[in-house]
Amino acid sequence: MKKSYFIFTLFLITISVSAQKISYSVSFPNILHHEAQIAVVAEGIPQQSLVFRMSRSSPGRYATHEFGKNVYDVKAFDKAGKTVLVNRVDGDVYTVPSYKGYVKLEYTLYANYADGTYAGIDISGVHLNMPASFMWVKGADKVPIYVEFELPNKNWHIATQLKPGNTANSFYAPGLQYFMDSPVRMANIISKKWELTNPDGKKYDFELALDAKAADSSVQSFANKVKRITQEAQAVFGELPNYDYGKYVFLASINPYVKGDGMEHRNSTMISLPIVFSDNNGLLEVFAHEFFHCWNVERIRPKTIEPFNFEKSNMSDGLWCAEGFTQYYGNLIMRRAEFDDDASFVGTISSLINTKINTPGARRFSPIEVSKHAVFVDAGVAVDKTNYSNMYTSYYPYGAAIALALDLELRTKFSNLSVDGYMTALWKKFGKTEIAYSMEGLEEVLSNYTGNKTFASNFFTKYIFGHEPYDYATPLKQAGIILKQPQLGKAWWGNIRYTDANNLTIQNNTSIGTPIYNAGLDVDDKIVELNDMAVSKSSQVDSIIRTYKPGDKIKIGYLHRGEKQITELTFSESPVYQAILFEKDGLPLSPEIIAFRKKWMGSKIQ
Ligand SMILES: [Zn+2]
Repeated sequence: MKKSYFIFTLFLITISVSAQKISYSVSFPNILHHEAQIAVVAEGIPQQSLVFRMSRSSPGRYATHEFGKNVYDVKAFDKAGKTVLVNRVDGDVYTVPSYKGYVKLEYTLYANYADGTYAGIDISGVHLNMPASFMWVKGADKVPIYVEFELPNKNWHIATQLKPGNTANSFYAPGLQYFMDSPVRMANIISKKWELTNPDGKKYDFELALDAKAADSSVQSFANKVKRITQEAQAVFGELPNYDYGKYVFLASINPYVKGDGMEHRNSTMISLPIVFSDNNGLLEVFAHEFFHCWNVERIRPKTIEPFNFEKSNMSDGLWCAEGFTQYYGNLIMRRAEFDDDASFVGTISSLINTKINTPGARRFSPIEVSKHAVFVDAGVAVDKTNYSNMYTSYYPYGAAIALALDLELRTKFSNLSVDGYMTALWKKFGKTEIAYSMEGLEEVLSNYTGNKTFASNFFTKYIFGHEPYDYATPLKQAGIILKQPQLGKAWWGNIRYTDANNLTIQNNTSIGTPIYNAGLDVDDKIVELNDMAVSKSSQVDSIIRTYKPGDKIKIGYLHRGEKQITELTFSESPVYQAILFEKDGLPLSPEIIAFRKKWMGSKIQ
C-alpha cells in the first residue's frame, strides 16, 4: 500500500513539473544599436502572481552587479495577446499580479560590453552572459528552460554549453542554475574539435569555438596547443569530469572589440581577449586556468556558493582554493606543456613568494578572510577610495602562493606526495560526488591524504585559518632554486608611484610599514623638497636616494592639500625576494635536483 501510494504521488509530481515551462525567444531587430528583444513565456507555474527579475550577480563573479539597469520597455501579455498589468516594484524587479498559468513578458536589452560578466550585442557578434541578459521567474528554479535565437546573420553559428534543442538555434537547460551558467556566443565562429578518452573508455568531445580574424591553419595550430593543455590537466586528476552533455566548449573571442576576461562554467569557458589573434603561447595561460576550473570550483565546489544566489553578492571562504590553486595550476600546466620555460616558471614563483611575504594584506589577513572580500573586489565598483593596498591581497596570487607552499611541503616532507595528489583526493571526495566542501573538509582530506593529522592541522592553522609567514627558501633548495633578496643594503622608502608629469604627486596609498608611510606621506601628497633641496623629477629623487644607506635619515618637504609639511624619514631596505635557478647562479645541479624538477614541472601525459 505504501509503495503504490508512493508511485502514485511520484506520478502526480512528474505531471505537474513537466507542465511547467519557461521559454525565451531572442531576436535582434535593432542590432546596429546594440539592442535585443527578449520574450519570456512562463507556463504552468503554480503561483497566483509572478515575480520576474534581473540578476545582481553572475556565476564565478562574486561582487554585486546591477544588470537591471540595461533592461527597459517591459510589457506583459496573456495567451490571447492581450496586455496584462506588469508593475515595476524595484529597479530590477517586475511583478505580474494576476497570473493564470500563462504570461509572456517582453523587454528590450541593451548590451555593449562583451566579457565574462556582461553582454555585448553587435553586428560583429553577439555575446550573452545569461545573468546580464535574461529576466527569470522567482520560485521557479527547477522549471526546465527553453531558449530560441533568431540569428541576425545567416553565416553565424552559436556556441554554448546548453543542450541543443529540437529545432535549429534552440537550446535547453534543466533549470535556472544551469541556464545562468551557460553563456552564448554567436558570430562567424571558427570551430576546431578533438576528443579525449577517460580511463574507463568514455570519450568526450572538445571544441575551440573561436571568434577571431585568423587563418584556418593558425587556428588549427592554436587548437592543438589548447588540446595539449586539456591533456595535461586531465593527467593531474587522472580523468576528465563527466561533462553533462558529453562535451566541453572553449568560447573564445580574441579580437579588439571585447573586454579582457576569462570565466569558468560547468562545461565551457568564456574567454575574451581584446587583441588581434595570433597563434601565440602567451594566450594559453588563460585557457589553462579556465579549463582547470572544470574540476576546481565547478565540481570541487565550496559550500558557500552552492547554490549560487543571483539576487546578491556571493561570499565564499574558499576562493583561495577555488581561484588561487587554479592560478597555481594555470602556471604549472603551462610549464608542464612546455609553453613556459623554467625561467618564466621561476619568475612566477618569485612573484607568489613576494605576494605571501611582502604584501600587507597577506601579512595581516588569512586566505579565508581575503576570499570573503571578493564581494567587493571581483569586478566590484567603488566610487570612493579604498585602502585595499593596506588590507587586501587578492586571493588569486595569495591562494597560488599557498598552493606553492603546500606543494613544497608535500614534495619535501613526504615521499611521492604532491598537490597533484591532494587535488585528486579532493576530486574523489568532493568533485566526482559533487558534495560541496567546507574548510574543515579540505583539512580532513589533507589529513587522510598525508596520513598525518598533525601536519594537516598545523598547515591549516598557520596558513589557511591564519597568516603566518612561510619559509619558502629551505624546500626550494631541493628543486635547485635559491631565494635571494637583491635589494638588501640599498636605501629604500617604499613602493610609491608618481610621474614627472604630476610633479611627484603620490598616486597610490602608501604601504603600511614602509618608511614613506611611517613618515606620514599619503596618496595625493606632493613631494617638493629633499633635505631642503627642491625636487620635481623622479630621476632627481632616485639619484638622491642612491646616496643614502638603510638607517639613514632624510628631511622631506611636501604639500598636503596645498599646505607645506615637513617630516623626517628613516630609510630601510626593500624586502623583495627573487627566486633564481641554481644554474643561473653558478651552482651545480645534482641528479636529485633534476629528478625533483622533472616530477614537479615535467609533463604528466602518459
Ligand atoms: Zn579563475
